[in-house]
Amino acid sequence: MKTILLPSGERVPALGQGTWNMGDQHATRAEEIAALRMGIDHGLTLIDTAEMYGSGRSEELVGEAIAGRREAVFLVSKVLPQNATRLGTIAACEKSLERLKTDRLDLYLLHWRGSAPFAETLEALSRLQADGKIRHHGVSNLDFDEMREWHSLKDGTGVATNQVLYNLSRRGVEWDLAPWLREKRIPLMAYSPLEQARLVNHKGLAAFGHKHGMSPAQAALAWLLAQENVIAIPKCGNRERLEDNLGALSHKLDTVQLAELDALFPPPKHAQPLEML
Ligand code: NAP
Repeated sequence: MKTILLPSGERVPALGQGTWNMGDQHATRAEEIAALRMGIDHGLTLIDTAEMYGSGRSEELVGEAIAGRREAVFLVSKVLPQNATRLGTIAACEKSLERLKTDRLDLYLLHWRGSAPFAETLEALSRLQADGKIRHHGVSNLDFDEMREWHSLKDGTGVATNQVLYNLSRRGVEWDLAPWLREKRIPLMAYSPLEQARLVNHKGLAAFGHKHGMSPAQAALAWLLAQENVIAIPKCGNRERLEDNLGALSHKLDTVQLAELDALFPPPKHAQPLEML
């Protein structure tokens, strides 16, 4: 498994697991838990959730999936902007810990910018770190200017990631944000790496995959795995589809294949506003 270096010197897998919409339906719950456990067995030990997902249902499901295996997992959750005040962040984190049935998060992110001043959120995150409730802090959905603003604040250089929308069909961050993060050695965490399954049904990507002996999902994930400093967190609540995604780990794309994908999904030619899903 390819690993990515966090600023702390710790390594995390370049392929993790997302959990948005997991836990929302009783009928799929057992399979979702089984898929997450199978992912852990295969090294996808970074699990991303958020207090927002299903109003806590995703965190509860993750708590169940990692029961007895907490030490093997690098657990990521997020605070909603409306809770990201000095006291609200701490209260939100404690509720997340309860739902996840754990005493600490490995990484806690500000989900996106709201009205709470960054400095206040950072103060709360530093407090949570000092109290051992979170091991690292980071951000999500911050554009290039916001990212540099966060980084310039007291304790802001401790930021461990910026989790943003990044996949073959959403390459805007390559213009400015991704190079800046790479230069600062802050990993970029790519969310919706399959464009919420839309890439799986992309005709051009299917043809590329057919030519090179991989599925469209494998091609999309292998492309992210070929990027420097990037962690991808596909969500997959089904063991058969997870098996497909795991296949991406055995497809290292070469320069010719990467050039073919550049032709299909051109990189940005100018700065673009950060996209969000
Ligand atoms: P995604 O990972 O791009 O796509 C997930 C969808 O693809 C699901 O419908 C899944 O269905 C399907 N899928 C997975 N593997 C497949 C395969 N091999 N073949 C066909 N379909 C497949 O989208 P996402 O959930 O939006 O993003 C991933 C994670 O990033 C989220 O779960 C969340 O943890 C995080 N995220 C963060 C933010 C943020 O604002 N920070 C925003 C969006 C997402 P099944 O589950 O049924 O297999």
